[in-house]
Order: sequence, then C-alpha cells, then structure tokens
Amino acid sequence: MENNISLLIIYTGGTIGMIPNEKTGALEPFNFENLYNQLPTLKRYPYQIDFYSFDPLIDSSDVTPEFWIKIVDVIEQRYEHYDGFIILHGTDTMAYTASALSFMLENLNKPVILTGSQLPLGMLRSDGRENLLTSIEIAAAQIDETPVAPEVCIYFQDFLFRGNRTSKNSSENFDAFQSGNYPPLAAVGIDVKYNFDSIIKPNFKKLKVSHRMDNNVATLKLFPGISQATVRSILHIEGLKGLVLETYGSGNSLSAPWFIEMLQDAINRGVVIADVTQCKRGSVIMHKYQAGLQLAEIGVISGADITYESAVTKLMYLFGKGYSPDEVKKYFAMPLRGEMMA
Ligand code: ASP
Repeated sequence: MENNISLLIIYTGGTIGMIPNEKTGALEPFNFENLYNQLPTLKRYPYQIDFYSFDPLIDSSDVTPEFWIKIVDVIEQRYEHYDGFIILHGTDTMAYTASALSFMLENLNKPVILTGSQLPLGMLRSDGRENLLTSIEIAAAQIDETPVAPEVCIYFQDFLFRGNRTSKNSSENFDAFQSGNYPPLAAVGIDVKYNFDSIIKPNFKKLKVSHRMDNNVATLKLFPGISQATVRSILHIEGLKGLVLETYGSGNSLSAPWFIEMLQDAINRGVVIADVTQCKRGSVIMHKYQAGLQLAEIGVISGADITYESAVTKLMYLFGKGYSPDEVKKYFAMPLRGEMMA
C-alpha cells in the first residue's frame, strides 16, 4: 500500500447508491459490498479502502440531528484508524450535513469528504463514478504525511468546496452545489489543483466531538406582505431559543414598528436572532441601511456572509453545548470553522 493510506467510505443513502431493480427497473439501494462490482477501478487504488454502511439507508430528506450524531460517532470511533473519510450522502441535505459535521468535529485534522450524485451509480451516465473516485483521491492526498484537505468538504462535479460554505443550487444539473462566498478549495481537471491558501491548516490538536444538537431553532423568511400573525406565531414557538431571520440584500428587514417590536420582545425573552441574507452571494452589513441598522440596535446579531444551512446548524450546535443566549450570540458572531468571514 502506498504510504499505508487507509480510507473509510461511509454510505448513508441517497441517489448515488441506487441501482435499477433487475425486474421492475425501480431504483433501490444496492448492497454496498457490491461496490467493487460496480466500480472495479477501486481495486486499483494503492490504498486500504473499507466500507461502513448505515442501516437503514436514508433519503437525505430524512436526515435529522440524531443522524448527524450517528455519523460523528462512526468517525470518532474510527478516527485513529483511517487517514480520511468519504461520506456518500444524498444531495438534498448534503450542505446541511456538511455544515453540521464541521461544527460537531472540532480540531478535525483529517479530510471528511461528502459526495453523492445526481444520477445513480448504476446508470451509465452517472456522475457518481467520478465524484466518488476523485473524493477518494482527495481524501488520500497528503504532503509530508499531512493531509492536504483536513476539513469537512463537499466534492461535486469538478470542485472541492468547504462544506459549511455550500448550498444545493440545482436539482438537475451535475454541478449541483455552489459556494457563493468562498472560493473552491480545489478545482479538478486533468490535475487536482488545490487552492492551498484557502484550506484550513491542521492544528494537530485532539479531535473533540459534540454529541448534542439542540433543535429549538426556527426560521423566519421575510417576504413583502408577511403578516403579523405569521411573525407572531413563529416568535412564540414554545421552547424557541434561536431564530434565523432571512432578510433582504445586505441584511435589511421591513421597518414597520409592529415588526421591530415583536422582534425586540422575543430578544427580551432570550431568543437569539441572527440576521442572514436571502442572497446566495454577499454579506449582511447591518449598518449600511437604516432597515438593517434598526435590527442591530435591538440586538439582532449579524450572520455576515454565512449560508442559511450553516446558520441553522451553528445555532443547533451552540445551544447543544448548553451556552447561554449571550454566549451563543458571542460565538455565533465569530467564525468557528471558516463558515463566515472574520
Ligand atoms: N433525494 C435524494 C437524497 O437527497 C437526492 C440525491 O441523492 O441526490 O437522498
């Protein structure tokens, strides 16, 4: 084995692992042990490649915080045995899982590469083959025995992205993911061209895993004409601790007094409200317009250039740690895993 590199492929479900049933033609998950039959090329890698399959496999639309905890458990228990991890996952919620895992795996010093596909591996034109093979190469890549990409990443259609910077942007094109506010960590053509300056350097500290996510969070997505009843009901959800307020442009909201008063009341009750823009590129700058400044003045915190997926999972992670609202505000406002600008 070249450098004795060993990798673990974790199969959670999703389109990538589907093959048509021989009789009915309907797509069904294939037995992972058959992966070598589907991809005989795998045998040619000079690495030790092992598999771990979830049971049951899930469509990623069914992913839950409990499922993320199971994934980090699998990684934690095998962390010392492998040089890198590849997670096969449905594309629908891959950006949420990648964001959640990035927070839950503190001091990660090994690659965790999520990938999947738009067409099942069992289909002739599947994009899964290339996505999986390149993910394996990236997970195994080392310079001076140090992994090149020791982050939670998504590899999809020629690009390696920081996982907590991504969103799914197409349900039909092969380039299904975007990272609007952070450059790709690598671009793949004939060679894998790493963007070394953009990749987090390993800190060689001991991995620290979070096993709790608190889902007492909600979202309020603004739209012109949103009713008082809608806003009131969301802000009064029982047990609500954190709210992602999806605002316009650079973090602006309607300025109607009833709206600002309702937010102020929720903040006074200890709800942490984060201002996250509906735009896929660009940042919240709360002091740019009066419509944003008024939010800052009542204690809404800026999500800067964080993605929606990262904002939701970061709140779950911070409340899962048992932090007080003030501590959550403090940590939310700073980059923890490169998920937002400093
Ligand atoms: N619904 C599937 C999933 O997310 C779609 C996919 O894998 O691309 O599991």
